[in-house]
Amino acid sequence: MKYYETHAHLNDEKFNGIVAETIEECRKVGVTHINHIGYNVESSKKAIELSNQYDNTYAVIGIHPSDCEKDSVSQIEELYNKYNNGKIVAIGEIGLDYYWEKDNKEAQIECFKAQIELANKLKLPIVVHSRDASLDTYNILKDNPAKYGTLMHCFSPTEDLVRMVIENGFKVAFGGNITYNRSKSFYKYMEMIPVEQILIETDSPYLPPEPLRGTVNTSKNLPIILEKLAEYKHIDVEELGKIVYRNSLEFFNIKD
Ligand SMILES: [Zn+2]
Repeated sequence: MKYYETHAHLNDEKFNGIVAETIEECRKVGVTHINHIGYNVESSKKAIELSNQYDNTYAVIGIHPSDCEKDSVSQIEELYNKYNNGKIVAIGEIGLDYYWEKDNKEAQIECFKAQIELANKLKLPIVVHSRDASLDTYNILKDNPAKYGTLMHCFSPTEDLVRMVIENGFKVAFGGNITYNRSKSFYKYMEMIPVEQILIETDSPYLPPEPLRGTVNTSKNLPIILEKLAEYKHIDVEELGKIVYRNSLEFFNIKD
């Protein structure tokens, strides 16, 4: 089985000095591709460096809502112009977070919109982080559509969000959160999302799946997530694995 890790932070300081061996471990379980996700200027630059250092790994650059007042979108554009050699595959993770930060909603919204505009200008898709902010996220994406694709990262389905995703053809990436105890309605919403719109991720080093909570999460845990996803979707794991793999290559415009 082959896995495309669509969202990892090997640029996190937890991996200082052990990136090569971590990637090697992930390769052993079948992880062929890894996206390094930036969340501010510094981590985006590191994502680009890692993507150039390791084959079949790619950079996603952008400013997370938590850093929207520290860094500016023009710095992300400068990074792209300075370093782009085809390995920067999306703008992200960008979006809104009213869980950790809610006193600067205006700033978050401005930063989000400006980065959608940048993605459209660079002809790149976006990777969206949305936490406790689904209505605003929805309105912004509706009024400022990302022309080259929208991926909702760490997706946690609710009725409204699932409808938005289906109506607009957005992609969603599921991570370790789908292995945590879930309600009946969660099962129902998971069933509603077409497999053609699904990707997988770990959000490493965060969000380890059950039964590994409390450990440092890495992309080698993707098989656990795929297996759980197959359970929700009532599809054979191998078959689902092929579908989400193909979805990932397509979304990030990568030739196999
Ligand atoms: Zn992340």
